[in-house]
Amino acid sequence: MNCVKCGTELPAIDGPGRPRKFCGEVCRKAATLEIRRLDGRISKLEAMESTYRFKGASLAGSVAVEIRRLEARLGDLLAAQEGDAEVAGHE
Ligand SMILES: [Zn+2]
Repeated sequence: MNCVKCGTELPAIDGPGRPRKFCGEVCRKAATLEIRRLDGRISKLEAMESTYRFKGASLAGSVAVEIRRLEARLGDLLAAQEGDAEVAGHE
């Protein structure tokens, strides 16, 4: 398992507990910022995509590819934060 944010290899945990997804608080916070940035970026790209589609431009296809790429990254980060949320103490 590697840190979802910076890719540093994480030490294996002995005993119970879910595996960690971030190497530390810095990366967890950085991931939150990246999630916000990705969110804003995806909104803008979606607006661009519909404009291109309206004009019939072939660019709409590559914008759609970029949107899917960003959404995949966003999904990874969100899943990692959820799986690494034992600090929040719900459950
Ligand atoms: Zn990290």
